[in-house]
Amino acid sequence: MPPILGTWPGTKETGLVTDNAVRRCDNCDFYKLGNCYEKHLVADPENKKLLNDDGKSIRVKPNWCSNFFEIKSGGLTWDDLSFIQRSWQRLVEVFRGSV
Ligand code: SF4
Repeated sequence: MPPILGTWPGTKETGLVTDNAVRRCDNCDFYKLGNCYEKHLVADPENKKLLNDDGKSIRVKPNWCSNFFEIKSGGLTWDDLSFIQRSWQRLVEVFRGSV
């Protein structure tokens, strides 16, 4: 799959960013137990220092991200979470009689 974020900053080839990511590794299909198994990320020379001994994954942190982010199958998106939060706030306001 081609990169989905276009001009996302970070490493040149794969756009790996290590902080302030809007999307997060821990919500990505390629993330498993602190590791990324996406082949482009694994092959990226700039990520070599993160390569695991298995040669098939790199170490990442939950709040990192890259151009190859793919939402977890069946996972919630940030938009979903935002919608749930706004709906909950609205319900609280209605029950408190503030509207
Ligand atoms: S967001 Fe990118 S670096 Fe993070 S797990 Fe997914 S493919 Fe790997």
